Amino acid sequence: MSAMRRKRIDPASNAEFLAGVRKDQANREKTYREQALKLFPHVCAKCGREFSGARLRELTVHHKDNDHMNNPPDGSNWELLCLYCHDDEHEAYERAGYHSGGSSIDQNSSGFTPFAGLGDLLKHKEESPDSKE
Ligand SMILES: [Zn+2]
Ligand SMILES: [Zn+2]
Repeated sequence: MSAMRRKRIDPASNAEFLAGVRKDQANREKTYREQALKLFPHVCAKCGREFSGARLRELTVHHKDNDHMNNPPDGSNWELLCLYCHDDEHEAYERAGYHSGGSSIDQNSSGFTPFAGLGDLLKHKEESPDSKE
């Protein structure tokens, strides 16, 4: 076991990196949502309500195995759920004890943070005494 030397993180490039990560994630979400909307009828798989026009926003893509990185192009891991049923689905999932280390909450794809380590990096940066404002 060797001691890992922690490199100081340049705040500018760190912010750039984070922006890139967010953009990446946003792009990926946009892509699989579009694909899912092409593949499936615009109907909530759970309550059967139909969505069209502006209300289509309320239809979200749920990952059946709760793995947002698992996006097979045939849509076998996707399910279209309205916001309400999507919430429901995740509550049921977590109640059933499939919760895996706190990374399975996607909150309709907006609050999802797949990079648990980043918080650590950021904290480190903030505590760094020589960080320039
Ligand atoms: Zn629904
Ligand atoms: Zn989901």
